[in-house]
Amino acid sequence: MRRKTITAHVGKLCIGSDYPIVVQSMANTDTNDIQASLEQALRIHHAGGEMVRFTTQGRREAESLGEIRRWLSAMGYTFPLVADVHFNPAVADTAAALVEKVRINPGNYIDPARKFKHIDYTDEEYAFELERLRERFVQLLSICKENNTALRIGVNHGSLSDRIMSRYGDTPQGMAESCMEFLRVCEQEHFYDVVLSVKASNTCVMYDTVHCLIDAMDAEDMHYPLHLGVTEAGEGEDGRVKSAVGIGGLLLEGIRDTVRVSLSEAPEAEIPVARELVEWCSSEPEYEIKEAEGVLFFRSEEQTTWDKFVLHAAAATGVELWKTGAKDLIIENPYFEDEQLLTLAKDILQAARVKLYKTEYISCPGCGRTLFDLQQTVAEVKAATKHLNGLKIAVMGCIVNGPGEMADADYGYVGAGRGRVSLYKGKECVLKNIPQEDAVRELLKLIE
Ligand code: SF4
Repeated sequence: MRRKTITAHVGKLCIGSDYPIVVQSMANTDTNDIQASLEQALRIHHAGGEMVRFTTQGRREAESLGEIRRWLSAMGYTFPLVADVHFNPAVADTAAALVEKVRINPGNYIDPARKFKHIDYTDEEYAFELERLRERFVQLLSICKENNTALRIGVNHGSLSDRIMSRYGDTPQGMAESCMEFLRVCEQEHFYDVVLSVKASNTCVMYDTVHCLIDAMDAEDMHYPLHLGVTEAGEGEDGRVKSAVGIGGLLLEGIRDTVRVSLSEAPEAEIPVARELVEWCSSEPEYEIKEAEGVLFFRSEEQTTWDKFVLHAAAATGVELWKTGAKDLIIENPYFEDEQLLTLAKDILQAARVKLYKTEYISCPGCGRTLFDLQQTVAEVKAATKHLNGLKIAVMGCIVNGPGEMADADYGYVGAGRGRVSLYKGKECVLKNIPQEDAVRELLKLIE
């Protein structure tokens, strides 16, 4: 049964309640490049995307997004645009007057970049910070009200503020509370066009956090729609399996408002994946699933394409692995080869973080902040490191959000500027601003 929510109005689109699930994506163009951004927004729209988000690093990008809105409207396209804002509440204010929705990240809306330092907050200091947050946030809410602009309170696992970390640690409860602090202000201000997201690249953390947030909302009689997504899921079949494990399990449980599949590929490539997941999970699919002696068995007689079956099997089994505690997975389908099914089972176990069989890649989807060809870079890093079983390697497009959001990666390759890369070991930057042509070689040396 579908989870009951209130409706968030985003331009002409309604999210939540009994409305169809909204599929969306994010552009990776420079937002100031109006022509390229328009073309990409239209490619996403024509692929079936119903909402397109753009990065807005500063006021200039927010204004460019307003220009993109004007051009699209003049061409008769009314699908909503979303401004993605980090570290700068004034940019959120500007964007809120220009486009249908603004995404803020509670971890950095007014809090400075996370320093990965444990800071002890007294109750008074904590309350003071919350009041500071409220004072600034109500200004944004009043602009949103005036312009009928919706808001996404979008928490990411890797960018919780030091304040939240000091009290809750790096936990699903911390992520849920980070969202709730902002949501309570919305309720006090009678602002209801809100969608929430709590994303992580670790699928298990993402799943637990969504439930934690729903429990926290239910406890305060709040029922807002949720935007589901696994961040930094990577690309290719691995990225699809990871997304299906995290998002699919929740869709099958009836948590069905809006979805973004984040892949390190062209944004329009995300849409058919999201669409397939949404349609299959909403169709009351038939399959058998049972656990016996620590092995989860999944049997399906579905005759479909391999690409679709990968998504279906991952959606159905990931969450069952966590619920049953099974440590192994057997997939049966008479229409596919045993070897294919065995590899898929291993990939699902890896995506659910039940067993690591191969190198784990965490890579962001890229956006207007990305300063290199992300898809090609991911391919190069993968080719050089695919023998390093069990290691988690991140490839992130920018230094602003990358280091924070690469979560629990062992090593990170992070864009630091045009043609420049910084390399990380865990959270520590060990090589700064090296030329990109040396970066893969230096990464291998570092790992060795
Ligand atoms: S980490 Fe990637 S997706 Fe996130 S802001 Fe940086 S470039 Fe954009």
